[in-house]
Amino acid sequence: MGPERSNQYTEAGLRELRRNCIMHVDMDAFFVSVELRTRPELRGKPVIVGFPADRSVVLSASYEARAFGVKSAMPMVVAARICPKAVIIEPRHKLYYEVSGQLMEVFESITDLVEPLSVDEAFLDVGGAIRRLGPPRVVGELIRRRVAAELGITASVGIAASKFVAKIASTRCKPDGLLLIGPDETVPYLHSLPVGPCGESARKLRTSSPGWASGRWRTWRPRRCPPLRKCWVPPVSTCTGCRGGSIRGP
Ligand SMILES: [Mg+2]
Repeated sequence: MGPERSNQYTEAGLRELRRNCIMHVDMDAFFVSVELRTRPELRGKPVIVGFPADRSVVLSASYEARAFGVKSAMPMVVAARICPKAVIIEPRHKLYYEVSGQLMEVFESITDLVEPLSVDEAFLDVGGAIRRLGPPRVVGELIRRRVAAELGITASVGIAASKFVAKIASTRCKPDGLLLIGPDETVPYLHSLPVGPCGESARKLRTSSPGWASGRWRTWRPRRCPPLRKCWVPPVSTCTGCRGGSIRGP
């Protein structure tokens, strides 16, 4: 890690750091974590937040429940069958929105450039905060510490030069982690991944592309990113939007 205070950096060093300062901050199992603040005896146990009704779905599952295969949006009936020991808690949305408001206040005290994605996650552009607070990793750890101390829940932070890669990074360091992908590491890092984390492009390629149903696209099953890089752009762009071509790398 670099010096703790960014004023020890040269101007060129600061410019370089600012290239690498988009953060995706995401709470770990948000609804469950909020509930466990007042029910600490359930820590380390499989816990599901959702209405225990036939047609309800899982809203949030603790990592212990996920180990049994429970996932968000899974029917509660299925979740109860595969993880019968799970403790089921009815959701309290008003409380979650309150905590979400406090969370956004923490983010906004770090930078003005906050783009909320949902109640428990946001992109932060911290380029302007580096001189004041320190290099990106220090800022990321500061956010994680403050969220833990002030809200009593854990956050995972992905840091990269783009939102797309920052979101992949936060997902892959969960729970309670921080992952920084430097600008120069971005392409090698993406190439090391299965295609799935890259915005689920593989699934969309298989199911949504108009050209997919015919010819060689029907049998093409990219499992890692390098094949996508070599891919003819239109099918990728068609199913991922106009920026789809950018995942091909330089
Ligand atoms: Mg989350």
